[in-house]
Amino acid sequence: MSAQQIHAYIERLSNLLRNEFRRSGSEHGLQPIQIEALHYLSLCNRYSDTPMGVTEYLGQTKGTVSQSLKVLEKKGFLSKNADDNDKRIIHLRITEAGRTSLEEIIPAALFSRACEHLAADDQARIIDALKDLLRGIQRANAMKSFGVCRTCRYNQKLEAGGYLCGLTQEPLSLSDIQLICREHEPINITLGQ
Ligand code: SF4
Repeated sequence: MSAQQIHAYIERLSNLLRNEFRRSGSEHGLQPIQIEALHYLSLCNRYSDTPMGVTEYLGQTKGTVSQSLKVLEKKGFLSKNADDNDKRIIHLRITEAGRTSLEEIIPAALFSRACEHLAADDQARIIDALKDLLRGIQRANAMKSFGVCRTCRYNQKLEAGGYLCGLTQEPLSLSDIQLICREHEPINITLGQ
């Protein structure tokens, strides 16, 4: 059964990746979950860089994520900043030190070496297939997509130039639309789906 085969390959790849994270992360004093939290914060937008955003993305408990964030802050890999309009909201920002460490860990050297042996077409096919699989799992389980802003149905390209988030009614820059968002909804999703 193909589901069984796909599961076996994904599981094997996950284990290899996790082991590689453990090895390279230990050089920076980081656990795999802390690397994943830092990686998420390096990719997400201003609506998603909160402790809740990290918790939802990682699918871990609040307590586990909170401990990881404390370690990252103590190491100087992230900073906490109160929201300009609502001081109850805390934004987590990756620091330069955090970004530098992350660049040394991701992509894992093991994966980079393997990808060097794949043709560009094969790499594109793998990315598309994995993207489809992820979307399928998210839809089947009514999970948030955490997609890139430019692929969101709320993203509006303005005639005068620039972009607007139809959900928050706030302007979006060119760099904003490259980031992932916890409010993202794929363009092809229908309401109530
Ligand atoms: S357009 Fe979509 S993805 Fe972009 S900020 Fe708005 S809700 Fe998030």
